[in-house]
Amino acid sequence: MQAEVISIGDELTSGQRLDTNTQWLSQQLGDLGIPTIRHTTVGDDLSGNVEALRLAAQRADVVVCTGGLGPTQDDLTRQAIADAFGRPLALDEASLAHIRELFARRKREMPERNRTQAMIPAGSQVIPNPHGSAPGIDLAIETESLASRIFALPGVPAEMKQMWHETLVQRLEKALSRKQGRLRYHAIKLFGIGESDVEVKLPHLIDRQRVPTVGITVSRATITLRIAARAHGDEEFQKLISPTIAEIEEAVGELIFGQGQDELEHAVLRHLEQRGFTLATVEVGAGSWVCDWMQKCVEMNERTIAPGPYVGGIAFPTPELARRWLSGSSAPPTASLESDPLWSTLARQACDRFQADVGLALGVYPSVGQMEQASQPFDLVFAMAAGEHLHVEQRSMGGHPDVLGPRIAKTGLDIVRKRLKGWLA
Ligand code: AMP
Ligand code: MG
Repeated sequence: MQAEVISIGDELTSGQRLDTNTQWLSQQLGDLGIPTIRHTTVGDDLSGNVEALRLAAQRADVVVCTGGLGPTQDDLTRQAIADAFGRPLALDEASLAHIRELFARRKREMPERNRTQAMIPAGSQVIPNPHGSAPGIDLAIETESLASRIFALPGVPAEMKQMWHETLVQRLEKALSRKQGRLRYHAIKLFGIGESDVEVKLPHLIDRQRVPTVGITVSRATITLRIAARAHGDEEFQKLISPTIAEIEEAVGELIFGQGQDELEHAVLRHLEQRGFTLATVEVGAGSWVCDWMQKCVEMNERTIAPGPYVGGIAFPTPELARRWLSGSSAPPTASLESDPLWSTLARQACDRFQADVGLALGVYPSVGQMEQASQPFDLVFAMAAGEHLHVEQRSMGGHPDVLGPRIAKTGLDIVRKRLKGWLA
């Protein structure tokens, strides 16, 4: 299903007023999964309007026009629709009653010329306009040579938007699900890349005119690419979206950790479970995000089989306190991060003390308590141990404290996810 948008008014073609309705409507149509293929702007001229309407109806399944529904001589949309599709205007009593009532509420008598606003092309449905005197028109044309649905809305943006939300969305959804099925979604989850880097790697992905459409959102450093398409069933949907999935995998495959409602902790747990391994964690100076998430997962899945892949975790406010846990006394820290054996020892100790196959230690200098004041990026260390394997990685990370804690934890989980594949295959 494709749409065209027509905006009508001399104030638009003369440049006195900017046409914002077309942009807004095209975005809304896109959100419903209906790409807009053409915009037309036409002045208040009957033959020009008739021509624009006919051409649009020949090309598009849906035509949405705004403007020209007022009561004055230059408001020609009603007549133009009547002429374009051979549907003479007839008085709609309910619309007339609504217009009269609007005037009565304002303690005014309805001028005779407002009667014309209740004149509707034969066979069309009214689109109620609760706050204005111009009802909208909804005309379905089904002839041998033509099949199109024409919607006419007033030009006043506030009225137009209200009518869109209150009436058009539902009517379009109904028409769409009959024709092209329900709007379905598939979400792909990524970690380890910024939003703008996704756009650089996949420049045409977020294009609104694209079919299927792809939306991008970021939540605490996790990126979701949501693919949307209309389909009658799962099979049709999979067929529609598979080229897009392939394109995404090609460009950012190694960053994809899951789909749908997946978070990194689910992905890590899945990998552990598949291989029959267990994990324990030590978090230093960065809260206890990994431990919390892992335990929530275990509860969420109502996992009663003990022990699950996550066998325990411990958190320390500072590296000094973690050191004391290791040695029983608080040894002074080593001068440089790289040469500090603390992190690899913590990862190994996580394995030993929790009897886990995999140990993850992550730490930050200074500690989380000081994050609030910090404007500089933090030095971080991630260490992962499994059997004879050991991986130590230093990173630097900045950002708002609300995002930084989860981001550090996710980085740790992502290291486990990637290494698990290689090491314990
Ligand atoms: P009309 O429905 O043609 O009487 O338009 C009423 C008023 O709505 C106009 O005077 C404009 O100020 C505004 N308007 C009409 N069309 C548009 C448009 N496409 N974009 C923004 N404003 C519009
Ligand atoms: Mg006008």
